Amino acid sequence: FKINMDEIEVQGELGKGNYGSVQKVYHRPTGVMMAMKEIRLELDESRLTSIIMELDILHRAVAPEIVEFYGAFTIESCVYYCMEFMDAGSLDTLTAVRVPEAVLRRITAAIVKGLRFLKDELQIMHRDVKPTNVLMNRKGEIKLCDFGVSGQLEKSLAKTNIGCQSYMAPERIKGESQNQLSTYTVSSDVWSVGLSIIELAKGCYPYPPETFANVFAQLQAIVYGPAPTLPHGYSADAHDFVAKCLLKDPNARPTYAQLLQHPFLLADQNADIDMASWVAEALSRRAAKGVISPVVPLAA
Ligand code: ATP
Ligand code: MG
Repeated sequence: FKINMDEIEVQGELGKGNYGSVQKVYHRPTGVMMAMKEIRLELDESRLTSIIMELDILHRAVAPEIVEFYGAFTIESCVYYCMEFMDAGSLDTLTAVRVPEAVLRRITAAIVKGLRFLKDELQIMHRDVKPTNVLMNRKGEIKLCDFGVSGQLEKSLAKTNIGCQSYMAPERIKGESQNQLSTYTVSSDVWSVGLSIIELAKGCYPYPPETFANVFAQLQAIVYGPAPTLPHGYSADAHDFVAKCLLKDPNARPTYAQLLQHPFLLADQNADIDMASWVAEALSRRAAKGVISPVVPLAA
């Protein structure tokens, strides 16, 4: 089916990113609650149309670890992108308290499976793995969103966006600074997985901006400094897994198949983990801190 704006009721804002905002919306014809991302682009009609056509591959991106795509349309110079609403929000807001290893493992396994699916089934790499792009719901499901399906869209967004929280692999930062666009491969996503896991475990971005004089110094640290490590209290397997993801040499990093065979993730296979309860606890901790719900109500 095709979605258009007339059939949509905006419920409130779920969050803002570098390129636009994400709204919680109700789609009247289907009765489905969705998340709608608005991306402002200064592009002509024909380019917008080709982005919409490219986004169509997303209809094939159906897997338990991938946020479902419902459809996209354009209005003026904006692309609107409708996807599954994930009612627990993104990983970055779920980490108030120490994450138990079994939970960390389950989340990591989902991320790696999702990335393997994208690579094996759709021949795409994610290009933007980070905690805000890993979403959860109250059922305890863990899914990836915002992967690079549309070359046109990527190009239009690829500005000087190396912000103060970069999850880019060292080789990608180096390439970018030398204006080479294709110096990175699927193993660059593996680096971002490692960094995201540490952030989840520590509750903060592993290269804290306040410890660097400026963004340049921070990027230098990512490229040339020692890789960050998991905090104490996690198993040797967990430490080893993360260390391998964060190897400076991209060719030395494990493939997804190898990561799934790593003892850290093998231990997840038959584990009985109540993710729904963990999510419920994380949400109530977040509520206790004053954030009532992931939805910011619209002003009346
Ligand atoms: P960037 O712009 O660099 O990609 P970002 O991922 O934080 O950063 P958005 O993708 O615009 O920016 O998302 C903004 C926020 O909206 C996210 O942090 C996330 O918490 C929330 N969000 C995005 N998609 C959904 C969804 N499908 N369900 C629920 N919340 C979502
Ligand atoms: Mg995002």
